[in-house]
Amino acid sequence: MKDLIRTSKRWVGMVIVLGLLVCHVAAESGNGTVAQPGAWCSQGQVYGLSSAQKEMLQTRLQRITGWTQLSFAENGKLEIGDLTAIEGGSLRARLSLLQALRSGKQFVIEDHSLSGAVNFGQLDEGTNYTDERIALHLEIYRVRLDFADFEKISATPEVKDSFDEGFTFLHELLHGLGLKDTHIPNEIGECETIINEMRAELGLPLRAQYLADLLHITPLIKTIRLRFREQSIDGRGLTRWKTRHLFFTPDFAFGQESQAFSPNANPTSSCLSLY
Ligand SMILES: [Zn+2]
Repeated sequence: MKDLIRTSKRWVGMVIVLGLLVCHVAAESGNGTVAQPGAWCSQGQVYGLSSAQKEMLQTRLQRITGWTQLSFAENGKLEIGDLTAIEGGSLRARLSLLQALRSGKQFVIEDHSLSGAVNFGQLDEGTNYTDERIALHLEIYRVRLDFADFEKISATPEVKDSFDEGFTFLHELLHGLGLKDTHIPNEIGECETIINEMRAELGLPLRAQYLADLLHITPLIKTIRLRFREQSIDGRGLTRWKTRHLFFTPDFAFGQESQAFSPNANPTSSCLSLY
């Protein structure tokens, strides 16, 4: 009889564990994304990334981190693979990405291309997700990327590499880890200070300002200019710094309404925050 009771208890225990596992697998944080820490591509109809966008982001992150096996799994999860499979890349980038992926938070990457509310990238304020059935508590952040904005950039290839989808994604992850931008002209801010360390390791131009300049080409047409510094060695072997510019012409520059720079944007200001 005792054996029977013990066996029954064991079965009940197994059923409960299996039930929890099933619940855990089924738990979703919205947009069809599994509710688990890490970085995930949204699986939703509205903001899901296309295969081309996933592949591009993967390529950018491989180049920046040097992790050759980094990829998005079938379910959208960003996986690094073998941590020691490295070719070049930035150590600072690897440390920052690893810190975000192991922070216990979830970052859901969304496609906001052609959005009037997002310029390049944006992190939402975060949501506390709770599933009492499985005692799951998760901080979820949406990383919104406007892939179309990167096609509106005019700059040298090196500056474009310094300001690509991969760096924008990492910048937003740093916000999720608590780092802040600056509102003071000529300061670079906490996120871009770290991103500049990554750029320096890769030999790329450094961002010289966080807040961009708004230039009035004509009374109706405006463009946004962002300054970079590029290191070079002159004929005498001395280090020289050259100024490089990135130009970006958003839709509002042609008089269209945009929420992208609100509420921080002041229409009369000559300084604008891009991401
Ligand atoms: Zn930012």
